[in-house]
Amino acid sequence: MKAARLHKIGDFRIDDVEVPVPQNDQILIKVGACGICGSDLPRVYELGTSKQKYPLTIGHEFGGEIVAVGQNVDESNIGKKGAIFPCIPCMKCEMCTTGNYAMCLDYDYLGSRRDGGFAEYCLVPSMWHFVESSKEVSYESLAMVEPCTVAQHCLRKSKLSAGNSILIFGAGPIGIMCARWAKIFGASTIILIDVNEEKIKFSQDRDLVCLDGRREDLYEELLRLNNGKKFDVVVEGVGAGVTLNQCVETVRTFGTIVMMGNPHQDTTIKLKTHSNILRKELNIVGMWNSHYHPLPINEWHYTVEQLETGRMSIDDLVTHSVGIEQVVDIFDDVYNQRMMSSKVLYRSDLK
Ligand SMILES: [Zn+2]
Ligand SMILES: [Zn+2]
Repeated sequence: MKAARLHKIGDFRIDDVEVPVPQNDQILIKVGACGICGSDLPRVYELGTSKQKYPLTIGHEFGGEIVAVGQNVDESNIGKKGAIFPCIPCMKCEMCTTGNYAMCLDYDYLGSRRDGGFAEYCLVPSMWHFVESSKEVSYESLAMVEPCTVAQHCLRKSKLSAGNSILIFGAGPIGIMCARWAKIFGASTIILIDVNEEKIKFSQDRDLVCLDGRREDLYEELLRLNNGKKFDVVVEGVGAGVTLNQCVETVRTFGTIVMMGNPHQDTTIKLKTHSNILRKELNIVGMWNSHYHPLPINEWHYTVEQLETGRMSIDDLVTHSVGIEQVVDIFDDVYNQRMMSSKVLYRSDLK
């Protein structure tokens, strides 16, 4: 089979490799689609894999069909379609035993620590990682269950309740998915902000309110759109000091800021911002990945359920799809920002 493997930092190739054979609890997935995550770009071009293990097949946002199973797995699972939970927690540490798998102290991970989804087939440790969906859910959507669930987790961490207003900084795919979850969760006003004109237009074309964060009258316009009020919830989806300052400015007294964007350098905030965090008695909440344990709710299952009912839809966020042979080239294009993109996917049905 073909697999997009990283051999060292910046050395990313399409290789011919053996199709793995599932043993014991393992299942073999024929990948339907796999998405490029923002974190894959520094992994390929700047940092390498987390444990500098090479060669390694990249890709953790994927879904597909079960085509073979190990001897401990019921063969009736063959033919099922679903999304893959890529985190492989140790199941022994304090975090795992309390169901907080995203916080595991010693985890493995498909696509960053062991072979992932940018391949024709992927070996998955067990059925526990498989989130089954009905046949109607597209592979594009299944590949986006991971980022979509991160967006859902953001909304849950914000504790937004029906009638609350929300402002989201960053109109990439996760920002847009946050806006859509906000609607499902019953938000009143939902506004996105970005500084990239194409992204702003992309959101507006999808019936979302998206403003340019650089406009002079930004704060006046936001107040106007939110009945003269600051926002109950503000999401920092960029990972930068500039936006964190803006979050504190736009959130209401006793409001909540969720910090979702990954920072890439030191974050500095203004004196006035720091002071306002105190004066407004803000809740500033960090978040990391998503929640997979059934209590209080398995967010992955909820995402798939909402995709099945059609209340959540995400496949319109895909701007580019390519076959396995083009994966390395499209990574290059995305990394070098040669085109405007929202979600970029590998699809196994394309040549
Ligand atoms: Zn990701
Ligand atoms: Zn653990």
